Amino acid sequence: MNDATGQSWDPRSWVADWQPGGGGAPAALARPASTPSASARAWRAGDRRMPLAFGAAAAVLAIGALTAHFSRQDGGVTTAAPEAGGVTAAAPQGPAQIKRTLVLSGVGDLGETLQASGLTTADAEAAAAAARPSLAPDGEIRAILTLEKADDGTRLVRLDASNPDSSGVVVSPVAPGVFTASKVAALLTARIIVRRGTMDADSFYSSAVAAGVIDSLIPVFAKALAFDFDFQREVRAGDAFEAAFSQPVDSAGNPVGAPTLLYAALSTATKSAAVYRFAVDGGAPEWFDGSGRSIVRALMRTPVDGARVSSKFGFRIHPVLGFAKLHRGTDFAAPTGTPIYASGNGVVTWSGMKGANGNLVILRHDNGWQTYYLHQNRILPQISVGSRVGQGQQIGEVGTTGRSTGPHLHYEVHVDNEPVDPLSIRTEGGRILSGEALIAFGKERDRIDVSRAGAS
Ligand SMILES: [Zn+2]
Repeated sequence: MNDATGQSWDPRSWVADWQPGGGGAPAALARPASTPSASARAWRAGDRRMPLAFGAAAAVLAIGALTAHFSRQDGGVTTAAPEAGGVTAAAPQGPAQIKRTLVLSGVGDLGETLQASGLTTADAEAAAAAARPSLAPDGEIRAILTLEKADDGTRLVRLDASNPDSSGVVVSPVAPGVFTASKVAALLTARIIVRRGTMDADSFYSSAVAAGVIDSLIPVFAKALAFDFDFQREVRAGDAFEAAFSQPVDSAGNPVGAPTLLYAALSTATKSAAVYRFAVDGGAPEWFDGSGRSIVRALMRTPVDGARVSSKFGFRIHPVLGFAKLHRGTDFAAPTGTPIYASGNGVVTWSGMKGANGNLVILRHDNGWQTYYLHQNRILPQISVGSRVGQGQQIGEVGTTGRSTGPHLHYEVHVDNEPVDPLSIRTEGGRILSGEALIAFGKERDRIDVSRAGAS
């Protein structure tokens, strides 16, 4: 997915108590690949002017009768359906351009149809062959032929052929008897779908799937709220969640491509949070609360996947030394090899063995805080003193080096050079949108909220 960290946010890997039931590879937030080109849109805008007749005609058309159903438009009339660049440039106001629109019962009829409209057998077959790979093997094909009549015969100027989902192909001649094809993506519209549910006793994953949230969105949902909630410790059965996502659909209403999570909300006994997806100035999408404040905090709550807290910050009897001692951080128990992540952006100020600390990494964060990661089995080679790390970037692996009784990460946060309880600090929020960006965000938020209000 398109996040800055590349970290896995699959809840199955980082929520140790949950055993989700299947599926759900980390989601792709990518936009659907099939965004129509500008020229395709232009063509489709015109194309939509002549809709229903085709469906009706299609029901009665048999291939043998196709020529009888050709509609004929002269050059003047076709301006109602503006052509995209290529045609006008390639054939400026040709003397006898004819446009024919027809519906074929299948792609197999294309060659014959082209031939029936006056092309030579060779041209018809070459143009059909160029179009075929972009057309569905089954189902009706709508074809718009632009033809030029000359004394020596009929030439194909352009063929627009489309599938029922509106994807298709534009075929144009490049030389006598030679045609090129350019694929046209389906004309997609996005539908906003809202799903609400409550946590079951099993897992967030199963709860969300039961509520109708598409499984690929579940890690995205968890990540969007990961700065506000510790899913492992703060979420209980009965807590309410809501997801709104955008699903591209083709002109036949079928889902096409990956859905995109637009809104995530979670409400527990003690707190609630709701976040909206928004891309500032066309940049990478981020999550903001309803007032336009970025949810990204200076530090992540938990720097290791799937861990349980085995020892909290505070005074305790030290397991190795045997007397009461301030435990300066939080211990996260996890198997050796479990990835450890930088909890915030920063610079490496220590990387390597350091006595009882074992393999230690110290990061100095942009706000002056420091984080310590002790007892690592292995530190990644690129984590060298002076190198810069991003929030969520892996720095090493859980281990039990130094003075340690078993595999765990001992994690410390230092503020003003004093250790503080990593689980109690409330790190400051991210930036707040302003000006044009805030106005644009407000529109997007309202658009999502309208859909949410309309959902039962
Ligand atoms: Zn410890």
